[in-house]
Amino acid sequence: MTATVQHWSDGKAFAGDSTLTAPVTNPATGEVVEQVALASVEDARRVIQSAEAAFPAWRDTSLTRRTAVLFAFRELLNARKGELAEIITREHGKVLSDALGEVSRGQEVVEFACGIPHLLKGGFTENASTKVDAYSVKQALGPVAIISPFNFPAMVPMWFFPLAIAAGNTVVLKPSEKDPSAALWLAELWEEAGLPPGVFNVLQGDKVAVDELLENPAIKAVSFVGSTPIARYIYETASSHGKRVQALGGAKNHAVILPDADLDLAADSMVNAGYGSAGERCMAISVAVAVGPVADTLVDKIAERTRTLRIGDGTRESDMGPLVTQEHRDRVSAYIDAGEREGASVVLDGRQVDADGGSDGFWLGPTLLDNVSPQMSVYTDEIFGPVLSVVRVDTYEEALELVNANPYGNGTAIFTNDGGAARRFQNEVEVGMVGINVPIPVPMAYYSFGGWKASLFGDSHAHGTEGVHFFTRTKAITSRWLDPSHGGIELGFPQNA
Ligand code: NAD
Repeated sequence: MTATVQHWSDGKAFAGDSTLTAPVTNPATGEVVEQVALASVEDARRVIQSAEAAFPAWRDTSLTRRTAVLFAFRELLNARKGELAEIITREHGKVLSDALGEVSRGQEVVEFACGIPHLLKGGFTENASTKVDAYSVKQALGPVAIISPFNFPAMVPMWFFPLAIAAGNTVVLKPSEKDPSAALWLAELWEEAGLPPGVFNVLQGDKVAVDELLENPAIKAVSFVGSTPIARYIYETASSHGKRVQALGGAKNHAVILPDADLDLAADSMVNAGYGSAGERCMAISVAVAVGPVADTLVDKIAERTRTLRIGDGTRESDMGPLVTQEHRDRVSAYIDAGEREGASVVLDGRQVDADGGSDGFWLGPTLLDNVSPQMSVYTDEIFGPVLSVVRVDTYEEALELVNANPYGNGTAIFTNDGGAARRFQNEVEVGMVGINVPIPVPMAYYSFGGWKASLFGDSHAHGTEGVHFFTRTKAITSRWLDPSHGGIELGFPQNA
């Protein structure tokens, strides 16, 4: 019998009435390590109610007290993040150092949110009209929902909940059912940090749980991260129920390598950003666009470095772990079959892999495909695995056209030693996050994270000032204090004087 990962509401674990569960596997061994509860509509309502009940008191809690809890949470997280990294590796498969990196990037958002008193300041204008003052305040929305993907079970929720909570909202987090335990660990940490019960809740489940979050009138905003078809569905459904929505979708990130680039740096970067976390990153580089004469040397350098990677259990000395499920592994492998059939050159074949891990683990080695053309399915689809495609073009203009024609617009990078070319790319490329000689341009917490086109539905990116904006609504106040006199009767439209 394996344990069941439960929900969290009213400051404690909650089993729920639903008897439905889904298995959670350790991808490095293939073993089922837990079951996760799949909420019924009633379970979801109970968790939402917990967030609703906690909201008025939390909204009215002073900024001093709220930030004290955030600082305590930050200290606990910093001291104990190794525990969280182990949970992530066990359920997701990424190597421990990578899991630790994800937690640290999430921690940066907690640190940013500790500055919430400054971020919530409104404006004040004295004597906007004679003896009339005008000012604005930023207020919390209410209970908000966060629906997160499997690939960053700690960092992606942390893109949102530190700011949501700091701004006075209460939260229901619906993690991926593939790796649900990180969310519960974070809930326990909040409890220890002194967050009042009901401010941070976890709802485990699938579409049933998600649909209740999208439709329940108590939920005022939805932050979603996942694949593009689901992001579109979340955006359309939640906004048709009157909610504010930011829904971050899938990606197909290109790196453009110009002829004057430092090819050793570019090759290192392609390996790191192509195969890190087995390619299961929304900012992974999945297409290297080699411009002009660089292609042969670039492919050789990438292949040479990739051959040195150790594939295995993330708790051992490995560089790259397994894929998240057997089903996903088989799907990615089928893309490699298709690429080969459609004429791509298989330079490195991950279907043949000798991994340092369980014989039933979900292994697929790093794969390098050359001479990929934009019609092939390995190019058109988001594969979300350790597959790097090289597309050869003759000019910068062709490379730019390729990137801009892609329906996704999450991240991109350019490798060059020409500042003018880089500046032109930064200006002309239709992608939300751009790296210049930097392969995974994940913005710092004080900037905002988000793509363009089919990589984002809604108009607010995550964290940074856009995150503060998303989790607050602004009220504009115009006030007049009489000194002592009478305003007088005037039915005309108020004008300034
Ligand atoms: P997913 O879309 O399958 O699932 C995301 C969440 O939606 C999960 O919590 C899941 O339970 C829920 N969900 C799944 N199907 C649903 C349905 N039919 N109705 C309602 N809810 C549903 O994504 P995933 O496989 O967990 O994550 C990988 C995807 O996430 C990739 O496409 C990746 O690019 C994307 N991603 C994007 C970003 C970004 O910043 N743009 C970041 C991380 C991941």
